[in-house]
Amino acid sequence: MHLLITGGAGFIGSNLARLALTNGHQVTVIDDLSTGYEENVAGLDIALIRDSILSPEAMARAVRGVDSVVHLAALGSVPRSIKDPMATHAANATGTLSVLEAARAAGVGHVLVASSSSVYGLNPALPKSEREWVRPMSPYAVTKLATEQYPLAYQQSYGMESVAFRFFNVYGPRQRAGHVYAAVIPTFIDALLNGQPLPINGDGSNSRDFTYVGTVCRVLLDACERRVSHPEPVNLAFGTNTALTELVEMIESASGLKAEVVHREPRPGDVKHSQADNAVLRSLFPDISPVPLERGLAETVTWFKEMQ
Ligand code: NAD
Repeated sequence: MHLLITGGAGFIGSNLARLALTNGHQVTVIDDLSTGYEENVAGLDIALIRDSILSPEAMARAVRGVDSVVHLAALGSVPRSIKDPMATHAANATGTLSVLEAARAAGVGHVLVASSSSVYGLNPALPKSEREWVRPMSPYAVTKLATEQYPLAYQQSYGMESVAFRFFNVYGPRQRAGHVYAAVIPTFIDALLNGQPLPINGDGSNSRDFTYVGTVCRVLLDACERRVSHPEPVNLAFGTNTALTELVEMIESASGLKAEVVHREPRPGDVKHSQADNAVLRSLFPDISPVPLERGLAETVTWFKEMQ
């Protein structure tokens, strides 16, 4: 099978590229390296197109001979989108349309996309099921609604098969710290290993359904191999609920180090709690069981230590 991974030099994409190659598949990556790193895919036997998904010419080249597209390219981060909504919209909403149009023109009939739990936004229901109402709290979340709804509409309009996954706080090796828009787990691990206090936005009661990147990639690859399609968005998480204060303790035990914590103001646009209802995921992917948080954190701490 030949996979195109957009955003394949990023955190999730580079993990997926490795898994796909290990399973004997051919991989093309398109990435403009705006937030990704070429070293994430260094030494891998892939075709790397260093260009934007917004370029129709580059996309036409990227989709040639491809069986499935896994569309991960996007500008992540809620705060980035609040600072510059136009840039986030261009990469995430217009970018998704660009990827779908290239796939359609080339007759690639199967596309997976990465939406986000952030689309639930102000909806307080827990756990979040896909039929719950959505109410984005940030420009980023709005662009992720577009990312998921376009391919679902393409199913109806053009018969293109797709799955629109809603990712919930993915973490693991190759997710970097040290930049202003870094996610919480790499930020905490990096601070701890460097003897710095762990910054918590708010009182630490905010909770998340953390999902190990290896688990996410197994679901994505399985969806390509079995050419899974689904007419509604699918939560890609396993229904856990870990408060940031608990997360600190778990990172302490994974690293064997004692953490100091500093509290900062809650960030605008951040949802308070996030936990998936995963009934749909389990029915579509019954064979996949998640890597538990303790084990995933241990793998992540090991990767950070190797990087130091
Ligand atoms: P990432 O930033 O590591 O990867 C995204 C990649 O897309 C980067 O390599 C970046 O260079 C590339 N990119 C950005 N704009 C591009 C453009 N115009 N053309 C080509 N490439 C472009 O992020 P990630 O954590 O690996 O996220 C992958 C996807 O999953 C994103 O769509 C993100 O919105 C979604 N997602 C991630 C999480 C998470 O917890 N990591 C949660 C919800 C949704």
